[in-house]
Amino acid sequence: MSSTGTKLEAVNSAQPKLKLRALLVEDNALDAALVVRALFKDGFDVSADVVQDEAGFTKAIHAKCPEIVLADYNLPTWKGMEVLKALRREGLDIPMILVSGALGDVTAVECIKQGATDYVLKDGLARLPEVVRRALREKNERSLRRQVEENLARKADELARSNADLEQFAYVASHDLQEPLRMVAAYTQLLGERYKGKLDADADKFIGYATEGATRMQVLIQDLLAFSRVGRNTGSSESIDCNAAMKDVLQTLAGAIQESGAVVTHGELPALWADRTQITQIFQNLVGNALKFRGNNPPLISIQVEKTGQHWQFSVSDNGIGIAPEHADNIFVVFQRLHARTEYPGNGIGLAICKKIVERAGGRIWVESQAGSGSTFKFTMPIHNADEPAPDQHAPDEKENEAKL
Ligand code: ADP
Repeated sequence: MSSTGTKLEAVNSAQPKLKLRALLVEDNALDAALVVRALFKDGFDVSADVVQDEAGFTKAIHAKCPEIVLADYNLPTWKGMEVLKALRREGLDIPMILVSGALGDVTAVECIKQGATDYVLKDGLARLPEVVRRALREKNERSLRRQVEENLARKADELARSNADLEQFAYVASHDLQEPLRMVAAYTQLLGERYKGKLDADADKFIGYATEGATRMQVLIQDLLAFSRVGRNTGSSESIDCNAAMKDVLQTLAGAIQESGAVVTHGELPALWADRTQITQIFQNLVGNALKFRGNNPPLISIQVEKTGQHWQFSVSDNGIGIAPEHADNIFVVFQRLHARTEYPGNGIGLAICKKIVERAGGRIWVESQAGSGSTFKFTMPIHNADEPAPDQHAPDEKENEAKL
Protein backbone atom coordinates (compact mmCIF):
# COMPACT_ATOMS: atom_id res chain seq x y z
CA MET A 1 0.00 0.00 0.00
CA SER A 2 1.46 3.35 -1.00
CA SER A 3 1.24 6.31 1.34
CA THR A 4 -1.33 7.99 -0.84
CA GLY A 5 -2.92 4.96 -2.39
CA THR A 6 -4.34 1.51 -1.88
CA LYS A 7 -2.74 -1.84 -2.69
CA LEU A 8 -4.76 -4.47 -4.50
CA GLU A 9 -3.57 -8.08 -4.77
CA ALA A 10 -5.34 -10.67 -6.86
CA VAL A 11 -4.79 -14.07 -5.24
CA ASN A 12 -2.86 -16.58 -7.29
CA SER A 13 -4.92 -19.42 -8.66
CA ALA A 14 -3.60 -22.92 -9.33
CA GLN A 15 -2.72 -22.05 -12.96
CA PRO A 16 0.60 -20.26 -13.51
CA LYS A 17 -0.13 -16.64 -14.24
CA LEU A 18 1.93 -13.86 -15.71
CA LYS A 19 3.16 -11.58 -12.93
CA LEU A 20 2.32 -7.94 -13.57
CA ARG A 21 3.24 -4.86 -11.55
CA ALA A 22 0.59 -2.31 -12.40
CA LEU A 23 0.03 1.22 -11.23
CA LEU A 24 -3.60 2.34 -11.35
CA VAL A 25 -4.38 6.04 -11.43
CA GLU A 26 -7.96 5.83 -10.28
CA ASP A 27 -10.16 7.61 -7.73
CA ASN A 28 -12.88 4.96 -7.65
CA ALA A 29 -11.91 1.96 -5.55
CA LEU A 30 -14.62 -0.23 -7.09
CA ASP A 31 -13.44 0.52 -10.66
CA ALA A 32 -9.84 -0.26 -9.62
CA ALA A 33 -10.96 -3.61 -8.24
CA LEU A 34 -12.82 -4.37 -11.49
CA VAL A 35 -9.72 -3.58 -13.54
CA VAL A 36 -7.56 -5.91 -11.44
CA ARG A 37 -10.22 -8.60 -11.64
CA ALA A 38 -10.44 -8.34 -15.44
CA LEU A 39 -6.68 -8.82 -15.68
CA PHE A 40 -6.64 -11.63 -13.15
CA LYS A 41 -9.42 -13.47 -14.97
CA ASP A 42 -7.35 -13.44 -18.13
CA GLY A 43 -4.09 -14.84 -16.84
CA PHE A 44 -2.35 -12.04 -14.90
CA ASP A 45 -1.06 -12.29 -11.36
CA VAL A 46 -1.48 -8.60 -10.68
CA SER A 47 0.13 -6.60 -7.95
CA ALA A 48 -1.36 -3.13 -8.23
CA ASP A 49 -0.87 0.15 -6.43
CA VAL A 50 -3.69 2.62 -6.75
CA VAL A 51 -3.04 6.36 -6.62
CA GLN A 52 -5.18 9.36 -7.47
CA ASP A 53 -2.87 12.34 -7.71
CA GLU A 54 0.54 13.44 -8.90
CA ALA A 55 2.27 13.17 -5.53
CA GLY A 56 1.06 9.62 -5.06
CA PHE A 57 1.98 8.74 -8.65
CA THR A 58 5.55 10.06 -8.35
CA LYS A 59 6.06 8.24 -5.07
CA ALA A 60 4.69 4.97 -6.48
CA ILE A 61 6.80 4.94 -9.66
CA HIS A 62 9.93 5.54 -7.57
CA ALA A 63 9.03 2.88 -5.04
CA LYS A 64 8.11 0.11 -7.45
CA CYS A 65 8.80 0.95 -11.09
CA PRO A 66 5.55 -0.51 -12.52
CA GLU A 67 5.44 -2.38 -15.82
CA ILE A 68 2.23 -0.69 -16.86
CA VAL A 69 0.17 2.34 -15.90
CA LEU A 70 -3.62 2.20 -16.20
CA ALA A 71 -5.02 5.70 -15.81
CA ASP A 72 -8.55 7.03 -15.60
CA TYR A 73 -9.03 9.97 -17.98
CA ASN A 74 -10.84 12.20 -15.47
CA LEU A 75 -9.76 12.46 -11.86
CA PRO A 76 -10.95 14.91 -9.24
CA THR A 77 -7.54 16.54 -8.67
CA TRP A 78 -5.45 15.37 -11.64
CA LYS A 79 -5.80 14.37 -15.30
CA GLY A 80 -5.00 10.97 -16.78
CA MET A 81 -3.00 12.54 -19.59
CA GLU A 82 -0.78 14.34 -17.07
CA VAL A 83 0.58 10.88 -16.28
CA LEU A 84 2.45 10.97 -19.61
CA LYS A 85 4.15 14.23 -18.71
CA ALA A 86 5.17 12.82 -15.33
CA LEU A 87 6.59 9.68 -16.98
CA ARG A 88 8.54 11.75 -19.50
CA ARG A 89 9.86 13.98 -16.77
CA GLU A 90 11.17 10.91 -14.97
CA GLY A 91 12.62 9.55 -18.23
CA LEU A 92 10.57 6.36 -17.98
CA ASP A 93 9.30 4.32 -20.89
CA ILE A 94 6.28 2.65 -19.26
CA PRO A 95 3.19 2.00 -21.38
CA MET A 96 0.16 4.01 -20.25
CA ILE A 97 -3.33 2.81 -21.07
CA LEU A 98 -6.32 5.02 -20.48
CA VAL A 99 -9.17 3.22 -18.74
CA SER A 100 -12.12 5.53 -18.86
CA GLY A 101 -15.86 5.59 -18.32
CA ALA A 102 -16.49 7.53 -21.50
CA LEU A 103 -14.02 8.74 -24.07
CA GLY A 104 -15.08 9.96 -27.49
CA ASP A 105 -13.20 8.61 -30.49
CA VAL A 106 -11.72 12.01 -31.31
CA THR A 107 -10.40 12.47 -27.76
CA ALA A 108 -9.10 8.90 -27.73
CA VAL A 109 -7.19 9.41 -31.00
CA GLU A 110 -5.79 12.69 -29.66
CA CYS A 111 -4.63 10.93 -26.46
CA ILE A 112 -2.88 8.23 -28.49
CA LYS A 113 -1.25 10.88 -30.64
CA GLN A 114 0.09 12.48 -27.48
CA GLY A 115 1.63 9.21 -26.35
CA ALA A 116 -1.00 7.06 -24.62
CA THR A 117 -0.47 3.45 -25.67
CA ASP A 118 -4.16 2.63 -26.01
CA TYR A 119 -7.52 3.16 -24.33
CA VAL A 120 -10.19 0.84 -22.94
CA LEU A 121 -13.69 1.76 -21.83
CA LYS A 122 -14.70 0.69 -18.37
CA ASP A 123 -17.73 -1.14 -19.74
CA GLY A 124 -15.47 -3.08 -22.10
CA LEU A 125 -12.83 -4.32 -19.64
CA ALA A 126 -12.75 -7.75 -21.27
CA ARG A 127 -10.49 -6.11 -23.89
CA LEU A 128 -8.04 -4.90 -21.28
CA PRO A 129 -5.84 -8.05 -20.88
CA GLU A 130 -5.15 -8.22 -24.62
CA VAL A 131 -4.39 -4.49 -24.77
CA VAL A 132 -2.00 -4.88 -21.82
CA ARG A 133 -0.31 -7.89 -23.41
CA ARG A 134 0.23 -5.97 -26.65
CA ALA A 135 1.56 -2.93 -24.80
CA LEU A 136 4.06 -5.10 -22.89
CA ARG A 137 5.12 -6.83 -26.09
CA GLU A 138 5.68 -3.51 -27.86
CA LYS A 139 7.58 -2.13 -24.89
CA ASN A 140 9.77 -5.23 -24.93
CA GLU A 141 10.45 -4.82 -28.65
CA ARG A 142 11.26 -1.15 -28.09
CA SER A 143 13.82 -1.94 -25.40
CA LEU A 144 15.37 -4.67 -27.53
CA ARG A 145 15.62 -2.28 -30.49
CA ARG A 146 17.10 0.41 -28.28
CA GLN A 147 19.63 -2.08 -26.92
CA VAL A 148 20.61 -3.15 -30.44
CA GLU A 149 20.93 0.49 -31.51
CA GLU A 150 23.03 1.33 -28.47
CA ASN A 151 25.29 -1.66 -29.10
CA LEU A 152 25.62 -0.64 -32.73
CA ALA A 153 26.44 2.95 -31.83
CA ARG A 154 29.03 1.75 -29.27
CA LYS A 155 30.61 -0.56 -31.85
CA ALA A 156 30.67 2.24 -34.44
CA ASP A 157 32.36 4.49 -31.86
CA GLU A 158 34.94 1.84 -31.03
CA LEU A 159 35.57 1.25 -34.71
CA ALA A 160 35.98 4.95 -35.45
CA ARG A 161 38.38 5.27 -32.51
CA SER A 162 40.45 2.27 -33.52
CA ASN A 163 40.51 3.47 -37.14
CA ALA A 164 41.73 6.86 -36.02
CA ASP A 165 44.40 5.18 -33.84
CA LEU A 166 45.50 3.02 -36.74
CA GLU A 167 45.69 5.96 -39.10
CA GLN A 168 47.67 7.90 -36.56
CA PHE A 169 49.97 4.92 -36.10
CA ALA A 170 50.48 4.43 -39.84
CA TYR A 171 51.20 8.12 -40.25
CA VAL A 172 53.63 8.40 -37.35
CA ALA A 173 55.34 5.10 -38.18
CA SER A 174 55.82 5.92 -41.85
CA HIS A 175 56.83 9.48 -41.09
CA ASP A 176 59.31 8.59 -38.34
CA LEU A 177 60.76 5.61 -40.20
CA GLN A 178 61.81 7.81 -43.07
CA GLU A 179 64.80 9.34 -41.32
CA PRO A 180 66.58 6.17 -40.06
CA LEU A 181 65.82 4.53 -43.38
CA ARG A 182 67.39 7.42 -45.24
CA MET A 183 70.58 6.75 -43.21
CA VAL A 184 70.49 3.03 -44.03
CA ALA A 185 69.96 3.74 -47.73
CA ALA A 186 72.64 6.44 -47.87
CA TYR A 187 75.29 4.39 -46.08
CA THR A 188 74.67 1.11 -47.94
CA GLN A 189 74.94 3.11 -51.14
CA LEU A 190 78.19 4.65 -49.90
CA LEU A 191 79.48 1.21 -48.96
CA GLY A 192 78.63 -0.01 -52.44
CA GLU A 193 80.37 2.90 -54.14
CA ARG A 194 83.47 2.92 -51.94
CA TYR A 195 84.15 -0.79 -51.63
CA LYS A 196 82.89 -2.19 -54.93
CA GLY A 197 85.55 -4.62 -56.24
CA LYS A 198 87.69 -4.22 -53.08
CA LEU A 199 86.03 -7.00 -51.11
CA ASP A 200 85.00 -10.34 -52.57
CA ALA A 201 82.20 -10.99 -55.10
CA ASP A 202 79.77 -12.04 -52.37
CA ALA A 203 80.27 -8.75 -50.53
CA ASP A 204 79.42 -6.77 -53.68
CA LYS A 205 76.29 -8.88 -54.14
CA PHE A 206 75.18 -8.50 -50.50
CA ILE A 207 75.73 -4.75 -50.48
CA GLY A 208 73.71 -4.59 -53.72
CA TYR A 209 70.81 -6.47 -52.11
CA ALA A 210 70.93 -4.22 -49.05
CA THR A 211 70.89 -1.05 -51.18
CA GLU A 212 68.04 -2.39 -53.28
CA GLY A 213 66.03 -3.40 -50.20
CA ALA A 214 66.51 -0.02 -48.55
CA THR A 215 65.49 1.86 -51.72
CA ARG A 216 62.44 -0.34 -52.11
CA MET A 217 61.47 0.21 -48.49
CA GLN A 218 61.78 3.96 -48.96
CA VAL A 219 59.29 3.79 -51.83
CA LEU A 220 56.88 1.68 -49.78
CA ILE A 221 57.08 4.03 -46.82
CA GLN A 222 56.51 7.03 -49.04
CA ASP A 223 53.44 5.28 -50.46
CA LEU A 224 52.18 4.48 -47.00
CA LEU A 225 52.70 8.07 -45.99
CA ALA A 226 50.82 9.25 -49.09
CA PHE A 227 47.98 6.89 -48.15
CA SER A 228 47.79 8.04 -44.54
CA ARG A 229 47.96 11.67 -45.67
CA VAL A 230 44.65 11.33 -47.56
CA GLY A 231 42.21 13.30 -45.48
CA ARG A 232 44.89 14.59 -43.08
CA ASN A 233 46.09 17.67 -44.88
CA THR A 234 43.08 17.96 -47.15
CA GLY A 235 43.10 21.18 -49.10
CA SER A 236 39.81 22.98 -48.92
CA SER A 237 36.97 21.73 -51.09
CA GLU A 238 36.04 23.82 -54.08
CA SER A 239 34.08 23.46 -57.25
CA ILE A 240 36.19 21.26 -59.52
CA ASP A 241 35.51 21.07 -63.22
CA CYS A 242 36.25 17.41 -63.91
CA ASN A 243 36.82 18.19 -67.62
CA ALA A 244 39.76 20.40 -66.66
CA ALA A 245 41.05 17.85 -64.14
CA MET A 246 40.85 15.12 -66.79
CA LYS A 247 42.68 17.35 -69.29
CA ASP A 248 45.55 17.77 -66.79
CA VAL A 249 45.66 14.02 -66.21
CA LEU A 250 45.76 13.25 -69.93
CA GLN A 251 48.59 15.73 -70.33
CA THR A 252 50.53 14.10 -67.50
CA LEU A 253 49.97 10.69 -69.07
CA ALA A 254 50.61 11.90 -72.61
CA GLY A 255 53.87 9.92 -72.91
CA ALA A 256 52.25 6.60 -71.95
CA ILE A 257 49.21 7.33 -74.15
CA GLN A 258 51.40 8.05 -77.14
CA GLU A 259 53.73 5.12 -76.55
CA SER A 260 50.84 2.63 -76.29
CA GLY A 261 48.73 4.16 -79.09
CA ALA A 262 45.85 4.51 -76.63
CA VAL A 263 42.56 6.19 -77.48
CA VAL A 264 41.03 7.90 -74.46
CA THR A 265 37.51 9.27 -74.79
CA HIS A 266 35.25 10.97 -72.32
CA GLY A 267 31.84 12.57 -72.34
CA GLU A 268 31.14 15.94 -70.78
CA LEU A 269 32.10 15.56 -67.11
CA PRO A 270 30.31 17.31 -64.25
CA ALA A 271 31.65 19.68 -61.62
CA LEU A 272 32.31 18.26 -58.17
CA TRP A 273 32.64 19.96 -54.82
CA ALA A 274 35.91 18.38 -53.75
CA ASP A 275 39.65 18.66 -53.24
CA ARG A 276 41.33 19.25 -56.61
CA THR A 277 44.43 17.16 -55.90
CA GLN A 278 42.35 14.22 -54.79
CA ILE A 279 40.06 14.24 -57.83
CA THR A 280 43.09 14.42 -60.09
CA GLN A 281 44.65 11.53 -58.14
CA ILE A 282 41.60 9.33 -58.74
CA PHE A 283 41.52 10.01 -62.50
CA GLN A 284 45.26 9.58 -62.78
CA ASN A 285 45.31 6.26 -60.93
CA LEU A 286 42.39 4.83 -62.90
CA VAL A 287 43.45 6.01 -66.35
CA GLY A 288 47.10 5.20 -65.54
CA ASN A 289 46.12 1.63 -64.60
CA ALA A 290 44.00 1.27 -67.74
CA LEU A 291 47.11 2.15 -69.74
CA LYS A 292 49.44 -0.02 -67.68
CA PHE A 293 47.35 -3.19 -67.54
CA ARG A 294 46.73 -3.26 -71.28
CA GLY A 295 46.36 -6.39 -73.38
CA ASN A 296 47.82 -7.04 -76.80
CA ASN A 297 45.78 -4.35 -78.55
CA PRO A 298 46.24 -0.59 -78.10
CA PRO A 299 44.24 0.57 -75.07
CA LEU A 300 40.71 1.88 -75.63
CA ILE A 301 39.76 3.83 -72.55
CA SER A 302 36.42 5.48 -72.01
CA ILE A 303 35.38 7.69 -69.10
CA GLN A 304 31.65 8.22 -68.64
CA VAL A 305 29.33 9.71 -66.04
CA GLU A 306 25.70 9.21 -65.18
CA LYS A 307 23.47 10.53 -62.45
CA THR A 308 22.26 7.95 -59.91
CA GLY A 309 20.05 9.49 -57.22
CA GLN A 310 22.17 11.87 -55.14
CA HIS A 311 25.45 10.83 -56.77
CA TRP A 312 27.41 11.11 -59.99
CA GLN A 313 28.54 7.67 -61.05
CA PHE A 314 31.81 7.74 -62.97
CA SER A 315 33.08 4.77 -64.95
CA VAL A 316 36.52 4.22 -66.43
CA SER A 317 36.50 1.24 -68.77
CA ASP A 318 39.33 -0.36 -70.70
CA ASN A 319 40.01 -3.29 -73.01
CA GLY A 320 42.97 -4.51 -70.95
CA ILE A 321 43.88 -7.74 -69.19
CA GLY A 322 40.87 -7.65 -66.85
CA ILE A 323 40.59 -8.91 -63.29
CA ALA A 324 39.17 -12.23 -62.08
CA PRO A 325 36.03 -11.55 -59.99
CA GLU A 326 37.57 -13.18 -56.88
CA HIS A 327 40.14 -10.34 -56.76
CA ALA A 328 37.59 -7.58 -57.21
CA ASP A 329 37.75 -6.57 -53.53
CA ASN A 330 41.37 -7.12 -52.50
CA ILE A 331 42.86 -4.94 -55.24
CA PHE A 332 41.58 -1.97 -53.20
CA VAL A 333 43.62 -3.03 -50.15
CA VAL A 334 46.98 -1.32 -49.51
CA PHE A 335 49.88 -3.03 -51.32
CA GLN A 336 47.68 -5.75 -52.86
CA ARG A 337 48.73 -6.54 -56.42
CA LEU A 338 47.96 -9.37 -58.78
CA HIS A 339 51.26 -9.36 -60.68
CA ALA A 340 54.96 -9.30 -60.04
CA ARG A 341 56.63 -5.90 -60.36
CA THR A 342 58.81 -7.28 -63.12
CA GLU A 343 55.63 -7.92 -65.12
CA TYR A 344 53.82 -4.62 -64.38
CA PRO A 345 55.51 -1.90 -62.31
CA GLY A 346 53.76 -0.45 -59.27
CA ASN A 347 53.33 -0.80 -55.54
CA GLY A 348 49.64 -1.49 -55.08
CA ILE A 349 48.77 1.78 -53.36
CA GLY A 350 46.84 3.63 -56.12
CA LEU A 351 43.45 1.94 -55.74
CA ALA A 352 43.68 2.01 -51.93
CA ILE A 353 44.14 5.79 -52.16
CA CYS A 354 41.20 6.09 -54.60
CA LYS A 355 39.01 4.08 -52.22
CA LYS A 356 39.98 6.21 -49.25
CA ILE A 357 39.29 9.46 -51.11
CA VAL A 358 35.96 8.29 -52.52
CA GLU A 359 34.69 6.83 -49.24
CA ARG A 360 35.68 9.90 -47.26
CA ALA A 361 33.63 11.96 -49.71
CA GLY A 362 30.61 9.69 -49.12
CA GLY A 363 30.86 7.63 -52.31
CA ARG A 364 31.99 4.10 -53.14
CA ILE A 365 34.27 2.48 -55.66
CA TRP A 366 34.26 -0.97 -57.24
CA VAL A 367 35.32 -2.85 -60.34
CA GLU A 368 33.33 -4.87 -62.84
CA SER A 369 35.55 -7.19 -64.81
CA GLN A 370 36.41 -10.66 -66.00
CA ALA A 371 39.97 -11.88 -66.48
CA GLY A 372 40.99 -11.24 -70.08
CA SER A 373 38.11 -9.04 -71.10
CA GLY A 374 38.78 -5.53 -69.89
CA SER A 375 37.76 -3.76 -66.69
CA THR A 376 35.31 -1.06 -65.75
CA PHE A 377 36.13 0.81 -62.58
CA LYS A 378 33.14 2.69 -61.17
CA PHE A 379 32.97 5.23 -58.40
CA THR A 380 30.33 7.56 -57.07
CA MET A 381 30.68 11.08 -55.71
CA PRO A 382 27.92 13.13 -54.10
CA ILE A 383 26.19 15.63 -56.34
CA HIS A 384 26.85 19.01 -54.87
CA ASN A 385 23.85 20.58 -53.18
CA ALA A 386 22.75 23.69 -55.07
CA ASP A 387 22.45 25.65 -51.78
CA GLU A 388 26.18 25.42 -51.22
CA PRO A 389 28.51 27.99 -52.78
CA ALA A 390 28.38 28.12 -56.55
CA PRO A 391 29.40 24.75 -57.95
CA ASP A 392 28.89 24.83 -61.70
CA GLN A 393 27.18 21.52 -62.30
CA HIS A 394 26.13 20.47 -65.71
CA ALA A 395 24.75 17.11 -66.70
CA PRO A 396 26.95 15.17 -69.06
CA ASP A 397 25.66 15.18 -72.62
CA GLU A 398 26.23 12.84 -75.51
CA LYS A 399 29.09 14.83 -76.93
CA GLU A 400 32.26 12.79 -76.89
CA ASN A 401 35.61 14.52 -76.42
CA GLU A 402 38.22 12.41 -78.01
CA ALA A 403 41.79 12.72 -76.83
CA LYS A 404 44.12 10.78 -79.02
CA LEU A 405 47.57 11.88 -78.16
P1 ADP B 1 49.48 -0.76 -58.85
O1 ADP B 1 48.93 -0.24 -60.13
O2 ADP B 1 50.63 0.02 -58.33
O3 ADP B 1 49.75 -2.22 -58.86
P2 ADP B 1 46.83 -0.27 -57.77
O4 ADP B 1 46.41 -0.18 -56.36
O5 ADP B 1 46.55 0.85 -58.66
O6 ADP B 1 48.37 -0.58 -57.71
O7 ADP B 1 46.19 -1.59 -58.40
C1 ADP B 1 46.20 -2.80 -57.66
C2 ADP B 1 46.10 -3.97 -58.59
O8 ADP B 1 44.83 -4.00 -59.23
C3 ADP B 1 47.08 -3.93 -59.73
O9 ADP B 1 48.34 -4.43 -59.35
C4 ADP B 1 46.40 -4.82 -60.78
O10 ADP B 1 46.64 -6.16 -60.46
C5 ADP B 1 44.94 -4.53 -60.55
N1 ADP B 1 44.43 -3.53 -61.51
C6 ADP B 1 44.22 -2.22 -61.28
N2 ADP B 1 43.71 -1.61 -62.35
C7 ADP B 1 43.59 -2.54 -63.32
C8 ADP B 1 43.12 -2.55 -64.68
N3 ADP B 1 42.66 -1.45 -65.26
N4 ADP B 1 43.14 -3.73 -65.34
C9 ADP B 1 43.57 -4.85 -64.76
N5 ADP B 1 44.05 -4.91 -63.49
C10 ADP B 1 44.05 -3.79 -62.76
